[in-house]
Amino acid sequence: MEATRRRTQDSAREKASAQRAQSVQWGRSWEVDWFSLISVIGLLCFAPFIVYYFVMACDQYQCSIGQPLFELYRGETTLLSIWARTPSFTWSAAKIYAIWVAFQVFLYICVPDFTHKIIPGYVGGVQDGARTPAGLINKYEINGLQCWLITHALWLANAHYFHWFSPTIIFDNWIPLMWCANILGYTVSTFAFIKAYCFPTNSEDCKFTGNIFYNYMMGIEFNPRIGKWFDFKLFFNGRPGIVAWTLINLSYMAKQQELYGHITNSMILVNVLQAIYVLDFFWNEAWYLKTIDICHDHFGWYLGWGDCVWLPYLYTLQGLYLVYHPVQLSNGHMLAILLLGLVGYYIFRSTNHQKDLFRRTNGSCSIWGRKPTYIDCSYRSADGGIHRSKLLTSGFWGVSRHFNYTGDLMGSLAYCAACGFGHILPYFYIVYMTILLVHRCVRDEHRCSSKYGKEWKRYTDAVPYRLIPGVF
Ligand code: NDP
Repeated sequence: MEATRRRTQDSAREKASAQRAQSVQWGRSWEVDWFSLISVIGLLCFAPFIVYYFVMACDQYQCSIGQPLFELYRGETTLLSIWARTPSFTWSAAKIYAIWVAFQVFLYICVPDFTHKIIPGYVGGVQDGARTPAGLINKYEINGLQCWLITHALWLANAHYFHWFSPTIIFDNWIPLMWCANILGYTVSTFAFIKAYCFPTNSEDCKFTGNIFYNYMMGIEFNPRIGKWFDFKLFFNGRPGIVAWTLINLSYMAKQQELYGHITNSMILVNVLQAIYVLDFFWNEAWYLKTIDICHDHFGWYLGWGDCVWLPYLYTLQGLYLVYHPVQLSNGHMLAILLLGLVGYYIFRSTNHQKDLFRRTNGSCSIWGRKPTYIDCSYRSADGGIHRSKLLTSGFWGVSRHFNYTGDLMGSLAYCAACGFGHILPYFYIVYMTILLVHRCVRDEHRCSSKYGKEWKRYTDAVPYRLIPGVF
């Protein structure tokens, strides 16, 4: 039985490998060049220390990222003494974290979506994903908005009524929780890696490069699942990562109140702008099934560890900073940031909406009051099938090829600017997002170019800039 299953998997791998030469390039690379390999090993080794460094700098150096380095350079401190002052793993944090993750698993798996039945316009319940390289269309239970609402309703009920735990619980256990998040991040990535070899969900959608580090980091399986519904990508990206984002911010807000007796307008601004982004994500979770994360990325350390550790710890640095530096903005400063954040959000949302509408209606829609213009394309999937597609060239998609990223970057800059100009730590986010999204542009365009060939060239001639017209 086992031998038969193995033979089937091996032959599926060989078949996929024979077809890959003729079919388009999906997801991550087949071949790993030296630069990618060194970057991957560098990230595997250093990314956990980057997260540690930022969180430690807040805990021990009032969010100064230069001070620990200066002190080390001048011999006023040592790595060992920094480490000795760092809160260690605690069983109470492990208990909190285990309850949190188990609760999110329960909501994800056991509570089918009912919000789409009561909220007009919301698309939830069972939805189709995009076609995978092997030609499959997976089904997903979209219940993220419901999970977010239930979790936050319970959080608020606890804070105002039940008092089972302090609303500052996340801040108070922030570093011990980081050790737990790392344990989960590494466990899930290692499990996904082993699973891809031993019992892949769909072996034809696996990618092996022959390089163990690259496979571990960028993932082998495309849509690993346990059972019919537990989808690793959808679960780890959305919950616990993104549901936690707004709870972490609320915990920071509660800590500010506890420490200073009031909440600053900058903290409210960060909470509001990031909550809009998070709620938008869950409101459009069905749309998220069509984004690069789900459609093209494989599930490895990059997504597994990234969703458990990098996202909750580094995307929330602004709120953490404001606990240590309670900045009160002038009205003008506050309004300017609010405007930047809202305009960025509007561009981000409208651009994503235009593509979604255009693709959903197969071009039979109106964009900015007119019939959309587009370029007809065709591509071949790994099963040899020829499919047709369209690339929109009007609306925001005629302004630049990734104007949704431009809006995202404007919103990201707004979160950072809400923290004033006292320290550079809160600006890490905009630097990181710029690198992430520029890299994403390049990798997406490389993939699209090999997917659509000369039709992609026609598209880039029609829309020549990537992010900012006339600049890049
Ligand atoms: P997009 O939503 O821009 O999707 C890119 C894909 O869309 C391409 O691979 C191609 O796929 C298709 N496409 C490209 N050009 C066109 C066109 N002109 N007309 C129609 N389809 C086109 O990218 P992402 O999935 O990266 O991002 C989605 C959103 O998520 C963005 O707004 C981004 O800012 C945000 N994001 C946020 C992150 C965060 O950490 N905060 C991280 C990553 C993304 P196909 O093969 O189907 O043709």
